Formats: sequence, structure tokens, C-alpha cells
Amino acid sequence: MDPGSIAGALASIVGEGNVVVGEEELRRYARDASPFVGHAPMAAVRPGGAEEVQSIVRWANSTGIPLYVRSCGTSLWGAVPMRPDSVVVDMRRMNRIIEVDEESLSVRVEPGVTFRELEVELAKRGLSILVEPENWHGCVGGNFSSHGSGWGTGPNVANQADAVLGLRVVLPDGKLLTTGSMASPWSNHQFYRYSLASDLTGLFAGSEGTLGIIVELALKVEEAPRGIGLAVYTFRDLGEAARALYRIRRARISTIYAYLAAGWTLDILYPDGAPWDHRLRVIVASPTQEQADIEMRRLREAVGPGGEYQGPAEAETLLREKDSWVREFAYRAGMRAALIVHVPLGSLGRYLESFRSLASHVSDRYGLRMGLGGFLTDRSFVSVLAIYFDPRSEESRSRAIAAWNDVKVRALESGAVPYRIGGIWGDQMPRMGEYYEVLRRLKSALDPRGIMSPGILGL
Ligand SMILES: Cc1cc2nc3c(=O)[nH]c(=O)nc-3n(C[C@H](O)[C@H](O)[C@H](O)COP(=O)(O)OP(=O)(O)OC[C@H]3O[C@@H](n4cnc5c(N)ncnc54)[C@H](O)[C@@H]3O)c2cc1C
Repeated sequence: MDPGSIAGALASIVGEGNVVVGEEELRRYARDASPFVGHAPMAAVRPGGAEEVQSIVRWANSTGIPLYVRSCGTSLWGAVPMRPDSVVVDMRRMNRIIEVDEESLSVRVEPGVTFRELEVELAKRGLSILVEPENWHGCVGGNFSSHGSGWGTGPNVANQADAVLGLRVVLPDGKLLTTGSMASPWSNHQFYRYSLASDLTGLFAGSEGTLGIIVELALKVEEAPRGIGLAVYTFRDLGEAARALYRIRRARISTIYAYLAAGWTLDILYPDGAPWDHRLRVIVASPTQEQADIEMRRLREAVGPGGEYQGPAEAETLLREKDSWVREFAYRAGMRAALIVHVPLGSLGRYLESFRSLASHVSDRYGLRMGLGGFLTDRSFVSVLAIYFDPRSEESRSRAIAAWNDVKVRALESGAVPYRIGGIWGDQMPRMGEYYEVLRRLKSALDPRGIMSPGILGL
């Protein structure tokens, strides 16, 4: 099908103003926030509601043209078209907050709403969601679809999937599936996820657009915490910092943010001398200030004598500016290729040592610097291995991608598991044996024509 006919067919569904065909704009869809470069699609389409999404998917089925879904496009793992003969479904127009359901303590939203937009609205009612990325400008749809975590994860919640009660999804054949309690035709509330046999909501968590297009999510909301505790600790010994983090988790201290940055990373970011050694920043949240104060005393005990208390100042900045550290970590030393993996919290010390050796390897072999920071999420430490490169130089970018691919295999074979998959990890998926085979069978059962995000997740 030629581009003109594609644009015409899509325009008949969403209106001409919501079809993108300009070369420059289409090239942007080949990129996310990683160094990975995919293919520019033949067109992009911006639906305004579920019915339009259904029509687009039916059209794709009839033509065999693959679709790649995009909400805010801020992924760090190559969530971009893997084929040039494709169309991107851009969900950013679908950004409504459909209903704040205070009775069920949930909120129903469209996938294109950003975390900032949602939190601003909920704050007016004294409510808050449970999990959000450090990047407030990411969308809810892309976060859930790719196993998002971050701010809010700790001993109680590990992942955005834990915070979602139900969905509406346009399946690859164009039908609309509802999951959660509202799957029952007589239920008007999303208040419980697990009642109707297998957990179909979970099937779409982490599916990264390969099994359908999510058009609505119901997220848990809670009373916004009124008690907050902030602390920064520094450590001379990174192994001791790792053990402190484990003790914090074991004591189930109610952290919503516990972030450890290795001293050698800080040396990269502050070449004139980092003001700290290994640094742990903690934010505790509780329903009342009295409870938060108790948690802060327990935190002090769990950290132990190896951690030197530096006061709350930096954590305060973090709370106020939300993503200030991330911007620093991501871009202060150039652009980063962030390779992100989960490692078991109980063996964190050993992994931190091996990441240090990997950083030396990256420096010797690729002439690039690699830093490390990461945060607690349930029993895992989300380790962000940041390989810095010069974004203005194609040669530097290719070296970063080569290092990225090298580090990913070494990390995987050391027992770490990927944070998200996207394009970067797809080639490793067949190595997962039966797990991958079942994913493939599910995929071909739901999407026999293979129109949903081919190549992503290695499918
Ligand atoms: C500086 C920085 C810091 C970050 N920090 C964090 C963090 O702390 N935690 C975290 O989780 N993430 C983080 N991210 C990554 C990202 O910003 C968030 O995860 C964001 O919420 C992803 O949503 P998105 O809409 O931008 O995803 P997109 O890139 O648009 O999509 C992500 C994936 O989901 C699929 N998808 C998107 N929408 C749908 C849909 N409606 N239906 C089906 N599939 C869909 C896409 O096909 C793609 O595979 C960070 C990014 C940056 C740049």
C-alpha cells in the first residue's frame, strides 16, 4: 500500500489533522530516550478514543500493516518501530482522567495522561497514586505496559503492575476486552483485580504493545501521605551501603524512595571532586508525621554506624524538584545509554563489585565511562548502568551501543534480569527457553497476523 492510500485510510478514521506523514516528524518516532534508533514508520495516527483505536486495529488486520504503540515515547530501552513498513499509534491525545472513584479508591485514566497531570489532579482531593517514574513527564500507559517502577516502590509495592486494578484493551482483532472487576457486566467499579479466574490484567503488564492497545487503566489511589521523613547517608564502603539497604528492606521501613549512588559515579558527574562518597538517599512516607518520625528512628538503626548522616537537605531538593537527580545522572556527563537490570537485594554487594569491574571493562574496551545508581523495589535493586557518550558524535553513539550490548549479556549471565525488554533485549529472549515459547504461543493465539509491534520482546 502506498503512503498516500495509508494516510487516506487513517484520515477516514481519525480526521486528517490526526495523521502524521511529514518526514521530519516521522523520524522522531524512530527514537525514544535511548541511543537506539529504529525505523521511521510510514505514518503515525493519533486516535481520540477507544472506537477509533478499534477501527485502526481492524484496518491493520485487513492490510497486514504492523502497528507500534507509543504513549509519551520516553522509554530508555529502544521501544521504537522495528520495521519501516509500519504505522505508529500515538496515544497522547487519549489523556483524559475518566473518573476519580473515591468509593473504590481508584482512578480510571486514558493511557496518554502523564504522571504529573494525574498527580496534580489527584492532589486537589488529597489523593495520590502509588508508583510513578522519576520522570514525571512519562505517560501512565507506557509505564504499565513496560513494567514501570520507581518513586513509590519499596517494601510494599514493587511495580506499576501492583498498582493497577483493571484495564480496557483493544485486542489485535479489534475487539475490546475489559479486565478487573468491571469485566463483570454488572459491576460499575474497578475495585478488585483477581476475581475472574486467571489474571488477564497481568498478561498485559510488560507486554510492551505486543498483545493489544491499552485504552484505559484503573489505578489504585490512596490518601496522600501526611508524614514524610528525609535523610541522606554517606558510606566509605559500598558493600556496607548495600548491607544497610538490605536491612532497611528487611525491617520493612516504609520507604517510597531509597536510592544508592556509587562514589565512582559521582566522580564522573563531578570531575572537580564529588561532595560525597557512596551516597544513599531515603524518603519515608507515612499517614501521619508521628508515624514517619518513628520510621526515621528505625531507619537510623537499620543504617547502622557505617552510614554517616548528612541531614535531609538533598532529599528535600529531590522531593521538591522530583526528577532533579535523574536529570543530573542522565545528562550531566553527556547523554547516557542506560542499561537497567534488577539484581537480588540480598547479594547487592557482590553485584556492585562486578558492576565496578564492568565499568573498567567499558572504559578499556570502548573508551567510555560507566556510572551506577539504583533504587530499592521490593526484593530487588534496580541497577541503572549509565554508559555516557557524546550525542553529537555518531561514532561515540555507536560505541555506546556496542558497549550497551556487551554489558547486557555479561549482566544477564551474572544472574541479573532485565528491567524492560523493548528492542535492546529482544535478541536475548529466545534464551529464556520455555518462558519465551509460551509467550510466542500466546502471541500467535491473540495476534495470528503478527500486526502488533513485531520485533519488540523478540516476538
Ligand atoms: C530521565 C528518565 C528517567 C526515567 N525514570 C524512570 C523511572 O524511575 N521509572 C520508570 O518506570 N521509568 C522511568 N523512565 C522511563 C519512562 O519515562 C517511563 O517508564 C514512562 O512512564 C514510560 O511511558 P511512555 O508513555 O513514555 O512509554 P512509551 O515509550 O510511549 O512506551 C513504552 C512501551 O509501552 C508500549 N505502550 C505505550 N503505550 C501503550 C498502550 N496504550 N498500550 C499498549 N502498549 C503501550 C510501547 O509500545 C512501548 O513498548 C525514565 C525515563 C527518563 C528519560
